[in-house]
Amino acid sequence: MSKEIPYKIYLEESEMPKEWYNVRADMKNKPAPLLNPGTGKPMTAEELGGVFCDELVKQELDNDTAYIPIPDEIRNFYKMYRPSPLVRAYCLEEKLQTPAKIYYKFEGNNTSGSHKLNSAIAQAYYAKKQGLKGVTTETGAGQWGTALSMACSYLGLDCKVYMVKVSYEQKPFRREVMRTYGASVTPSPSMETEVGRKILEEFPGTNGSLGCAISEAVEVAVKSEGYRYVLGSVLNQVLLHQSVIGLETMAALKKYDIKPDIIIGCAGGGSNLGGLISPFMGEKLRGEADYRIIAVEPASCPSFTRGKYAYDFCDTGKVCPLAKMYTLGSGFIPAPNHAGGLRYHGMSSILSQLYDDGLMEARSVRQTDVFAAAEEFARVEGILPAPESSHAIRAAIDEALKCKETGEEKTIVFGLTGTGYFDMYAYEAFHDGKMTNYIPSDEEIAASLAKLPKVEG
Ligand SMILES: *Cc1c(COP(=O)(O)O)cnc(C)c1O
Repeated sequence: MSKEIPYKIYLEESEMPKEWYNVRADMKNKPAPLLNPGTGKPMTAEELGGVFCDELVKQELDNDTAYIPIPDEIRNFYKMYRPSPLVRAYCLEEKLQTPAKIYYKFEGNNTSGSHKLNSAIAQAYYAKKQGLKGVTTETGAGQWGTALSMACSYLGLDCKVYMVKVSYEQKPFRREVMRTYGASVTPSPSMETEVGRKILEEFPGTNGSLGCAISEAVEVAVKSEGYRYVLGSVLNQVLLHQSVIGLETMAALKKYDIKPDIIIGCAGGGSNLGGLISPFMGEKLRGEADYRIIAVEPASCPSFTRGKYAYDFCDTGKVCPLAKMYTLGSGFIPAPNHAGGLRYHGMSSILSQLYDDGLMEARSVRQTDVFAAAEEFARVEGILPAPESSHAIRAAIDEALKCKETGEEKTIVFGLTGTGYFDMYAYEAFHDGKMTNYIPSDEEIAASLAKLPKVEG
């Protein structure tokens, strides 16, 4: 029965998913709705339509439709870099001398260097279809801004990116890639927006945060005719688009009758993890199969493991709706270390509900341990991983080492979300022994959580 498993399991173009899978349809406890901070009532489609594109609002609010067709234009764009390979990490297994079987789904095979392009093209497509002039967004580490710039240039849309100041300064090449694709890039907080000026007044010299940049991008979208705001993670619609990762992974595994025991992903706002696990979680929710699912977050920004499940603002300037999620508080500004794209204070509402229901686990890992894993991986598997992705590598290696102790032949699948070519300053700090492990104190987190908005539910 057992077929020989190739190093890379590729799907044919024709085997690429034709529909996204919406895990909310199979959730008994649905994720909590976004609330209007003024009224405390769920946001209506009309209210959301002022900020987001109409079709995306529909997807955001749809808790019931399990499969949503992927428009041909988006599928054709996907074909430029998908299906992405599922790789058997034979060399890593050998190096670790583990009986575990390790697979990773590699999403770094496109110029933006990460999985974010899967949702960027979808969001840009719906904006274009609505006849808009352009979109605004924030970017932290820069991957989302890069992906969105690529998608917008492909479709001929204007793209305004607010980039967290510390990244703007640390990653000039990211910025230039975005400008190459025609986007305008502004360091955040900036003096261009009301909310940016207010934040700068309150915190002069701040390095910025994703929460600040979101506030600025939303303000500009709402005030500019023909513009809407788009977000690269956290939202239900983004997890929906990213389900293409999980659907392909499942199809590739099924080709060889492989059943994973453990599925691992890094968690910033939850989009890659949510996308990877969605179809597997669907089976789990329907009682058809069981999997251990592990979210891995940085110890410097531990929303799941040390945050609180509560309604909170999605942004620092408090211009966005309230979302119920595991959060460290919207005023939480993580230390400017290198956790890059995992520095958001909150977490996807879908994943928050699944985690609260005990359907998945979470753990946090220290930055130097993450880079040690990244290096170990790069040296045998060749790929230079993004620091974000390396959180998942850390956990996969740790699980594989446990198998070595117990002799169990578990099958581990993890998401390798992207490449780290723009993160070489972080690698340099690690190699020079200058990388620090900033971990917030209980007092710091408590002080931030004390400022959560008072909302029922
Ligand atoms: C943005 C990013 C992440 C984290 O975002 P999620 O929404 O949690 O997936 C992880 N890896 C890479 C390479 C990223 O660019």
